[in-house]
Amino acid sequence: MNYRHHYHAGNAGDVLKHAILARILLHLKGKDSAFRYMDTHAGIGLYDLRREETQRTGEVERGLGLFLKATFSAAETDLFQPYMAALKAYNAIAGTHYPGSPMVAKHALRPQDKMSLSEKHPEDADTLTQRFRDDRQVTLVPSDGWAALKAWLPPPERRGMVLIDPPFEEEDDREKMLDAIKLLTRKWATGTLALWYPIKGQREADRFASYAQSIGVPKTLRIELNLDAMGDPTRMNGSGLIIINPPWKLAEEAKLMLPALARSMRGTGRTRWMVEWLVGES
Ligand code: SAM
Repeated sequence: MNYRHHYHAGNAGDVLKHAILARILLHLKGKDSAFRYMDTHAGIGLYDLRREETQRTGEVERGLGLFLKATFSAAETDLFQPYMAALKAYNAIAGTHYPGSPMVAKHALRPQDKMSLSEKHPEDADTLTQRFRDDRQVTLVPSDGWAALKAWLPPPERRGMVLIDPPFEEEDDREKMLDAIKLLTRKWATGTLALWYPIKGQREADRFASYAQSIGVPKTLRIELNLDAMGDPTRMNGSGLIIINPPWKLAEEAKLMLPALARSMRGTGRTRWMVEWLVGES
């Protein structure tokens, strides 16, 4: 296990993932009944942006840094508000720390809601365990997230979401994500599932999307932001999310958020974004 998220914290992929995550969580809070947030590849929760590894890659500058410098319309500002609230809460705006997915979720959770996290890297699992040591809202599994997911589904709560955000070090990570779609529909058809993936070449992203589409689950949404669509296909040029059962307003919201994200984090390359139903409502 070589992947360490410190090198990438706050990059453009994180901004897309966490801005959308914050909106899904906001919608889940639309009802009083408790929900559960599950995160199979949780990382360490909070990243110190001053660390040498983070500074060295410059990814945070091209992601969060550009996002924070951008100006947005009133409607766009409103859509980014839940993400901005998490950034403010953990000092990301001051540039010292960046909240990973567990902290974005923790910021959104109400007292009745619950969170299940899994992280396999021993050192990172330990950091995460320390972070949530006395937190009764959080259950942590310091081992394989794919196995944890099988044990978690279905959760006691009828409502909630799963985020799957692997490092793509293993050949079969994409295959396991597709299996997770099938698992969700079998064991927890009411839940929302968000699968994050990096985009190198567009052809690879299209192939993954068409596999997800062929599973045929109603309400399968594809969101993608490619900041260098003509770029070197051996490097990460963008990222995307396949979302099963998104909250009903999310697709329309994403159609406003994606061009704003593309505008704000645009580099020198050709940007390309999409919000597309792979499978609509049955
Ligand atoms: N979700 C986090 C966020 O948004 O802040 C970032 C997660 S990072 C992309 C992927 C994480 O998965 C790494 O911390 C890595 O150690 C962990 N990991 C790798 N293989 C795993 C596995 N099989 N089960 C659980 N965690 C794993």
